[in-house]
Amino acid sequence: MYITKAKYTAKQTPVSLSLCFRIHISLSLPHFLSLSLYVFMVQARGIQIRENVKNIGAQVLEQVVRGAHSNNGTDYAYDFNSSESEAPPTTYLPEDFNYLPSQVCPERLPTMKGRLEVNMTEILLDEVEHSLLRADPSLAPGGYWTPTDCQPRWKVAILIPFRNRHEHLPILLRHLVPVLQRQRLQFAFYVIEQTGTEPFNRAMLFNVGFKEAMKDLDWNCLVFHDVDHLMENDRNYYGCNDMPRHFAVKLNKYSYMLPYNEFFGGVSGLTVEQYKKINGFPNAFWGWGGEDDDLWNRVQLANYTVSRPSGELGRYMSIPHHHHGEAQFLGRYTLLRHSKERQGLDGLSNLNYSPQVSRRHLYTNISVSLTRNLAPIADY
Ligand code: BGC
Repeated sequence: MYITKAKYTAKQTPVSLSLCFRIHISLSLPHFLSLSLYVFMVQARGIQIRENVKNIGAQVLEQVVRGAHSNNGTDYAYDFNSSESEAPPTTYLPEDFNYLPSQVCPERLPTMKGRLEVNMTEILLDEVEHSLLRADPSLAPGGYWTPTDCQPRWKVAILIPFRNRHEHLPILLRHLVPVLQRQRLQFAFYVIEQTGTEPFNRAMLFNVGFKEAMKDLDWNCLVFHDVDHLMENDRNYYGCNDMPRHFAVKLNKYSYMLPYNEFFGGVSGLTVEQYKKINGFPNAFWGWGGEDDDLWNRVQLANYTVSRPSGELGRYMSIPHHHHGEAQFLGRYTLLRHSKERQGLDGLSNLNYSPQVSRRHLYTNISVSLTRNLAPIADY
């Protein structure tokens, strides 16, 4: 056996370096396979560690930058005393509990079991469609479903902003549809796909999705959902509340810690009334980051207090992806200093667009080309 060192560049880390050794070895096939597996695992582990370090590093940096750009804490009083972690333990209804078709569905159903298995293996949309329909043929086009054994407490439009994540959507739908059925919510899915060449605008996509969804049905609850976020506990109830809700509290990519008090990203929910009152999301955030922070500011400025699920319930895993991340929107901190002035001017109120809407079996697809002149606003 002999080992030769292959060329490597300064950019490569010690972990990927381990793969740059060419190993010339005469081994039997089983030995060779287990060696390959070992090398693969070492590399995968290395990538995972690098990702974690990167995420934690980014959060530390985030705190520093947020500190430097803060308004001396005088403009907005953030109230973080909103978690339910100190609430008494919640009781769920017993297995044999009977509810009637004429009654409003309970919020804590026996069907909601708690921790879920999270399956991230890729699957075709067609296959998900078939298996969900086989399990419940009442699932209608657009991913529309309503319980028949009780009156749904909330009519929930699930809005998913989208670009180039075709492998993630079926994974999310496979995971989420049965959960929402067990939660006895009335729901449908809206995937709002950004076309064109501008940077991704998650917030504007949500505003478009909202306007289009409301043409379908008088939804009263909106869930703003990233396509790569998978809940880990089906007791994380996707109904709305008298206060805006932040569902994705603990993400595996942030080591299951809230990155900062005002974090409002990943998955959040507002009633239609709350969303209209705050003039929706801002349209001015092009690229990655900041739009969820602005939503937080809008909610505070309207005198709401964000509520969050307690401890275990708000856990999420995000689907790893091979895509290059969207470029960070570096101007976000400057914009965030003027959330208050922009709130009434930029949002649902100044948005024009021309969508292409098509109904698929599991969701309604809204394709829209976004450009800056669709939401005119004086510069801040
Ligand atoms: C961004 C947010 C993002 C958060 C956590 C912040 O810098 O402004 O949009 O949700 O980081 O990743």
